[in-house]
Amino acid sequence: MRASRQIIRSVKNTVYAAKNIILDNLATCGNLFTLMNIQIRAAVTTSHTSASDVPAVPTDLLAYVGQIVPCTEAEGPGWRFAIWFQGCPLRCPGCCNPHFLPFNGGQQIPVADIVVLLDQAMQNHPQLEGITLLGGEPTAQAVAAAALAKAAWYRGLTVLMFSGYTLEQLQQRDDPAVSELLAHTDMLVDGPYDHNQPETRRRWIGSANQRLHFLSSRCQWDDRWLQKNTVEIRLRNKEITINGYPSSAVLAWSRKWLRRT
Ligand code: SF4
Repeated sequence: MRASRQIIRSVKNTVYAAKNIILDNLATCGNLFTLMNIQIRAAVTTSHTSASDVPAVPTDLLAYVGQIVPCTEAEGPGWRFAIWFQGCPLRCPGCCNPHFLPFNGGQQIPVADIVVLLDQAMQNHPQLEGITLLGGEPTAQAVAAAALAKAAWYRGLTVLMFSGYTLEQLQQRDDPAVSELLAHTDMLVDGPYDHNQPETRRRWIGSANQRLHFLSSRCQWDDRWLQKNTVEIRLRNKEITINGYPSSAVLAWSRKWLRRT
């Protein structure tokens, strides 16, 4: 208990000591989450193209979702709409998202509703630069992930995906949905997480074996990939969510919290 209090105090100190903290009430995510957003803002310029010619998402297409954060700076360059897909067939030792591994967890949400959330996020956070698909394993729900990537792409947002499979493995899959997903992915971080090779240089990337591919000409390497990792903590009533790259102490504390709730 005492240790937990110390960690909570340390989390609070970390959050409140940071410069330029702005508390944002995030857009309500339908019946999903209303979260208090604790963020450190950065100046990002974005341009959104007209959505008038965006292909419609089939109304019966569903996604199994572990979590959505409408605007985060901790999951890729710039401010991003992040969606954690529920379910992953891989079991990398030391996976930091074990609660997103089972396919029978999370919530089933029509992809069209997620696109509505994306539009709301773009309105509420004009600095939004892209979306991030992670999980879980986005390519395990390739049809839904491709539809979301396409929706983002046509709205002028960049698409970053984290996959436990290598690019070559994905390209070799005889699955048109995976091809469609890759065709609408600008940046891919690929390969399984290897806890023996923690990444120390590139931000947002878990282990040194994972590669960063720029699959389109819309994105390229920049210094943001070399900045320090950050963690974002969101509180609502008794619910707490942590995303980004928490320290091992915060991670241990959050796992304890998850077990208690
Ligand atoms: S691919 Fe990602 S989500 Fe799946 S087990 Fe590995 S680290 Fe965890």
